Amino acid sequence: MGLRDRYQARSPGMGPAIDDALERTWTKSSRYDRVARVTGTRPLTETGTIRMSFEVVDGQPFTLKPGQFVGIQALVGDLGYRKSPYCVLSPPSDDGTFELLVRVVPDGPLSCYLSSLSEGDEINFRGPTGRSMVPKDDETTQLCLIATGVGISPFMSLVKVLAQRGFDRPIRLYWGLRLADDICLIDELDDLVNEAVDFQYQISLSRPPEDWTGLRGRVTESVPPLLEKLGDRHFYLVGNGAMNKEMSGALSDLGVSLHEIYEEHYFNLKYQPDPDTLRELRSRFVANDLFSPVAHQEAGGWLVRDGQRP
Ligand SMILES: Cc1cc2nc3c(=O)[nH]c(=O)nc-3n(C[C@H](O)[C@H](O)[C@H](O)COP(=O)(O)OP(=O)(O)OC[C@H]3O[C@@H](n4cnc5c(N)ncnc54)[C@H](O)[C@@H]3O)c2cc1C
Repeated sequence: MGLRDRYQARSPGMGPAIDDALERTWTKSSRYDRVARVTGTRPLTETGTIRMSFEVVDGQPFTLKPGQFVGIQALVGDLGYRKSPYCVLSPPSDDGTFELLVRVVPDGPLSCYLSSLSEGDEINFRGPTGRSMVPKDDETTQLCLIATGVGISPFMSLVKVLAQRGFDRPIRLYWGLRLADDICLIDELDDLVNEAVDFQYQISLSRPPEDWTGLRGRVTESVPPLLEKLGDRHFYLVGNGAMNKEMSGALSDLGVSLHEIYEEHYFNLKYQPDPDTLRELRSRFVANDLFSPVAHQEAGGWLVRDGQRP
C-alpha cells in the first residue's frame, strides 16, 4: 500500500488534506539542521529498550538542561521524513556528547530506524529544547518523580545534576514498567542513591513475577498509598500520557496546584481520563493534607480549581 493509500485509509474523504500531509511528509524541515554521529548503540533489555550515544559533529555547542529533548528527523523508507522528540538520558556535558534511551516500538518508523543505526551513522536533529526540570534554588519542596517506561530518561539526567549540586531535599522516584524483563539502568540508579544526599527509587511492575518484592501494579495503583503528604512537593510525570493525565487529574482534584505538576507525555497524547477512573484513583491516595476542591464540591460546596477557594 502506497503512502497516499495509507493516508486515504486513515482519513477517507480528505483528498486535498492528504495532499498537504504528503507534501509535509516529503518536505525536509530545515529546522533539523544539526548533525550528530552515533558512537554506540546497546540493547538494554530483550523487550526493546536501547541506549544510544552520539557526538555532535556540526561544530555548534550542545547546551543541555535536564528534562530537555532533541528532535530527530530522518527519511524513513517510503514513509518520507519522520520527526519525533527524544529526551536526553545523559547529564549536560562540555564535550558535545549525549545519550538517548529509545523504546523500539514494533512497526514504529522512527524508533525502528534509530535501532537500525550503527556506529559512525549520522542523524539530523534540532535542539536541545524544552523546559528545564531543575527546581529553583530558593524553593523548599521535595521532588516526587513518576516515570513510565523510557520516561525515566530525563530523571536520570536530573538526579545526576542535583546530586552534583548537593541538592539536599528528598527526591523520590517511582518507575512503572510492565515486566521484570523491562528493568534496566539499575547500576546507575543505585549509584545515584549513593551519590545524592537523599534519593530513593522504587520500581512498580504491572505484570510482576510471583517472586517480585518491589511494588506491584501500575504506578497509578501502587504510588498513591505511599504518598504521606501532597503539599510541599513538585510532581514530575513523564512517559505514557494516559498515566500522566490520570495522575495529574487526581492530584489536582486533591488540591495540588497545577504549578507543582510537570508533565511530559511521550504518547497517548489525546487520552482524557473519565470521571470514574479519576474517582477510583483519588480513593487510593492516603494523604489529606491539602484542601481538596473535589471533596469540597462532593460535600456540597462550590467547585474550586487549582487549590483556590472561591
Ligand atoms: C517530549 C517527548 C519526549 C520523548 N522522549 C522519548 C525518549 O526519550 N525515548 C523514546 O523511546 N521515546 C520518546 N518519545 C516518543 C518518541 O518521540 C516517538 O513517539 C516514539 O519513538 C515512536 O515513534 P515511531 O516513529 O517509532 O512510531 P509512531 O508511529 O510515532 O508510534 C507508533 C505507536 O507507538 C506508540 N508509542 C510511542 N512511544 C511509545 C512507547 N515509549 N511505549 C509504547 N508505545 C509507544 C504510539 O502511541 C503509537 O501508537 C518522546 C516523545 C515526546 C513527545
